[in-house]
Amino acid sequence: MTHANGLTSQWTPQAVETLTALTIKGKTRSEIADAIWEKYLIAFSPSAVIGKQHRLGLQNKRPPKTNKEKARSLLGEPKVHRWIDFDDPAWDEQTNAPLKLTLLELGDHQCHWPLNEKRDGQTLYCGQPNYDADVRYCYEHFRRK
Ligand SMILES: [Zn+2]
Repeated sequence: MTHANGLTSQWTPQAVETLTALTIKGKTRSEIADAIWEKYLIAFSPSAVIGKQHRLGLQNKRPPKTNKEKARSLLGEPKVHRWIDFDDPAWDEQTNAPLKLTLLELGDHQCHWPLNEKRDGQTLYCGQPNYDADVRYCYEHFRRK
């Protein structure tokens, strides 16, 4: 186990432990960064995670990329401060629940995917944050487009 170097690294022993455990489970770098953020509120970029994996000699045994991951790497990482765990099934069900906003309530940076629902005769839209600055849909709806 490596000890955190207070000057150049924020890797605490607990964060390294989480990194090791999740790497062995085959989690992606962004999943690991997200898990460490949620547990310890320490922010690492996916590239910091892979750098640490290399230094620790950890091998990510993840199988070849899924279509979802391919799409994501084509599009680049989402431009948000936190890394969304797209592969967590809970994300699709909970985080991505449409906010059901009318066109008037919808901001420029919210998903413009029309839902099959109306409120006071007005079509409701998804309203989740846009996947990317240039895209009018959240990740889930961008994928379905
Ligand atoms: Zn959406």
